[in-house]
Amino acid sequence: MSQQQWIKTTCPYCGTGCGVEAKLNGNAKVEVRGDSSHPANLGLLCSKGAALGDTLSNEGRLRYALVKGHQEPLDKALSYVASRLSQTLGEHGPDSVAFYVSGQLLTEDYYVANKLIKGFLGSANIDSNSRLCMSSAVAGHKRAFGEDVVPGSYEDLEHAELVTLVGSNLAWCHPIVYQRLKRAKLANPKLKVVVIDPRRTDSCDIADLHLAVNGGTDVALFNGLFAYLSEHGKLDQRYLQQHTEGFEPALAAAKQDAAQLSQLAEQCGIEPEALLRFYQMFADTERCVSVFSQGVNQSAQGVDKVNAIINCHLATGKIGKLGASAFSITGQPNAMGGREVGALANLLAGHLDYQPEHLAALEAFWNSPNLARRPGVKAVDMFAKVASGEIKAIWIMGTNPAVSLPESAKVREALLACPLVVVSDCIAQTDTTRYADVLLPAAGWGERDGMVTNSERMLSRQRAFIAPQGDTKPDWYLLSQVAKKMGFAEAFAYQSSAEIFSEHAALSGLLADAKQRKFDISALSGLSKANYDALLPQRWPVNGQAQDTRSLFSDGQFCTASGKAQLIAVNYQASASSCSGDYPLLLNTGRVRDHWHTMTRTGLAAKLSSHISEPMLEINPADAASYGLADGELVVVNSQQGELRVRLKLDSGQKRGHLFMPIHWSKQFSSDGVVSQLVNNIVDPISGQPESKYTAVNLRPW
Ligand code: SF4
Repeated sequence: MSQQQWIKTTCPYCGTGCGVEAKLNGNAKVEVRGDSSHPANLGLLCSKGAALGDTLSNEGRLRYALVKGHQEPLDKALSYVASRLSQTLGEHGPDSVAFYVSGQLLTEDYYVANKLIKGFLGSANIDSNSRLCMSSAVAGHKRAFGEDVVPGSYEDLEHAELVTLVGSNLAWCHPIVYQRLKRAKLANPKLKVVVIDPRRTDSCDIADLHLAVNGGTDVALFNGLFAYLSEHGKLDQRYLQQHTEGFEPALAAAKQDAAQLSQLAEQCGIEPEALLRFYQMFADTERCVSVFSQGVNQSAQGVDKVNAIINCHLATGKIGKLGASAFSITGQPNAMGGREVGALANLLAGHLDYQPEHLAALEAFWNSPNLARRPGVKAVDMFAKVASGEIKAIWIMGTNPAVSLPESAKVREALLACPLVVVSDCIAQTDTTRYADVLLPAAGWGERDGMVTNSERMLSRQRAFIAPQGDTKPDWYLLSQVAKKMGFAEAFAYQSSAEIFSEHAALSGLLADAKQRKFDISALSGLSKANYDALLPQRWPVNGQAQDTRSLFSDGQFCTASGKAQLIAVNYQASASSCSGDYPLLLNTGRVRDHWHTMTRTGLAAKLSSHISEPMLEINPADAASYGLADGELVVVNSQQGELRVRLKLDSGQKRGHLFMPIHWSKQFSSDGVVSQLVNNIVDPISGQPESKYTAVNLRPW
């Protein structure tokens, strides 16, 4: 390969969606730098983005198809997949097949996967690892706004006077959004930052106030805020009257949770003065942004938490203006793209729903012979059905459920027993690929072309700048070839990602009520390949109307039938996984700064392991002392689901009774087990998102 020009692309890690410039230098090494023209990151990159070039080695790449462990020509392997899927469908019906996809996929991959299984195989059993990340935010948005819409943008941070980080360690999990916030605070000393998190994380370095709440108490805390705002005459009555519904029952529910401030503070595990200070700051500040992430979403009450936060913004009219928003930050690079194409079991493509008018429109648009008419199974239930034998064929794309799903030991047993496991990935050996009957070589970052959408609704291109290795192909190509071999050639005759994106964009503008719907990128349908290749980053909607897309709902018009936002009555509920004598401690899980998901990519860059080199269990020193344990000691941590050995790390930033362990290290990188095997599979009843932040555990010396 010869030396290239800089190619503009997008980072494949977190939902910040940073623009990256990459080029192959004369030594066949890939150099990367931040793209200063990209609106999301303005040229900045975090440690993970800056190390992208180090992850592009040939080491461990899956370059050829394997069927039952034997290398096969790609076409033969795809024929085998098509024939086994057809056989399974013929013998057991549509619900016997499932696709488990990923926020790492590009929009075009996602679109084709969803179209194939829902439109042509007749099954809605497609779910994404985004279920583990932000499905509670999706459901909360739909309840409040009528559509899954993130109202704000990163520019809100530069216009806000109060930014509250709720269940978000922005400094490590979205480092460039954090840098923007830090810069904004330097530029505007009036900007205050509040962190609501049981842990004292690096995000607290810029916090004016840290509320180290008890895990899982966010609904009570925000209901308390709602009641406080009402009691102190801080509601925006005009906004409530003109633009919302559901105020009275929502306030009544909030008041039930917020008897005395002192009791509420005790329930939340914080000082009453600190709680009051936060309430006063929110009440007295016009421009408030509440940034929330996995600490809110990964909960058995995640959807209610989302709505408790949004209620406070709607009740004060602090939404739809620059610097005033409830802002869900997504974990993955293209979780938002997956939501756009409907690649979650309970969604349809183009933000459509399972209702007769939408189903009819989609059926006609796809010319679908066998459209799924009811939601499929969500991630945790999907693997339970694999375990029970109801699902007999599963295709896993670009994700590692043997490590990432709760009760992962059961997931591994289920995959072992499943008659057909197809895995498409760019890495040959992961904890999941070892269960594959068929391994399909997928193109990875730098080799593939397509679209991603970041947390602020910004569409950006990922562009290829290195040649694909061996037989590797984009996932959309692998899916389309299987579709053709199953008899659906006409609907899957795609020649490029540009054609797929054009179809996706056209679908977004399909419905007659499109004027009420925010996800509308129909102005991008029919783009030529050259224009698609040259497309600049832009936030949706992109519908041909001149508009400021930084703050949606600025006109007070929402996507509900009445056009009004909905306040939702929610009440705090204690988790089903409560601590007890046998399991007196609460395990929280999350990310570290320099690794990504199950490390199949960041594990290839040695410098990314210099920050934290092995898994650890963080504990408050007083808790460690009560167990007679010292820093660095090996311990066994156990829950009702399993146990593993890990090194203890004393950290005074841990709340008493709370532990923290990172999600990244798998059996592949650590012989001592995977934290997900401890995590219970309790899910939010609405979103199906697992409660990965809250598992009762115990400890003993090893
Ligand atoms: Fe990549 Fe996220 Fe880092 Fe940006 S902040 S460089 S998107 S990992």
